[in-house]
This record gives sequence, structure tokens and C-alpha cells, in this order.
Amino acid sequence: MSLNVVNNATCTFCGCVCDDIELHADGDRIVKAKNACSLGEAWFKHHTAERLFPDALVDGKSATLATAIDAAAEYLYEANLPLVYGLSNITCEAQREAVALTEPVGGVVDSHTSR
Ligand code: SF4
Repeated sequence: MSLNVVNNATCTFCGCVCDDIELHADGDRIVKAKNACSLGEAWFKHHTAERLFPDALVDGKSATLATAIDAAAEYLYEANLPLVYGLSNITCEAQREAVALTEPVGGVVDSHTSR
């Protein structure tokens, strides 16, 4: 086993953007993420470039993007106080779109970091 150590890696999982992570990689697999919190460590250790998930899920089942958009629109329309939740590990542009979608329907936005 030959470990490759990367110092001062940045974690982009939750938005705090910790930039003092020491990553230990065995081949192309990260085996240790020193200084990362439990969320960051899990993200580094289990994040993969492989495409493991479908484009969308509706009620936990694989769905097309069009079906997911229709379902999301229905949920937002029916909700009294929509909560748009999560948003970690996505781009700033996607977060901006989530806020733009939430404001007109009187919803609230929160991230998993509030847990
Ligand atoms: S998930 Fe943890 S390590 Fe990663 S940026 Fe957030 S607080 Fe930092």
C-alpha cells in the first residue's frame, strides 16, 4: 500500500469550506480525511466520480427529470409552507435557482447543517 498525502485540501460538502483537511489516498481511494468533521469525512471517503444514481428520484423511485420536475411543482403547489432542504454539495448556481424557486411560493430554504 502506498499512501499519497494531500495537505490543505478543501471540503466543499456543507458550505463551511474547511481548507485544512489532510487527505490520505490509497490509489484512487481516500482512506483518511484528517481534520474533517464526520460529514466531511464521510463525503471524502465515499464520494466517487462514478455515476451511481439515476437522474432523479420521486418517492424514492428512479424517475425521469421531466417526471421529477412535475412532481416537485405539484409538491410546491400543494404545500402550505414549502421547505427546500439540503443543497449541500451543489453549485452556487443551483443554490441560487433553489432560492429563486422558493421565494415566489413563500417557502423557506435550509441546509442540512442546521441539524
Ligand atoms: S462538512 Fe465538515 S469538514 Fe466539510 S466543510 Fe463542512 S464542517 Fe468542514
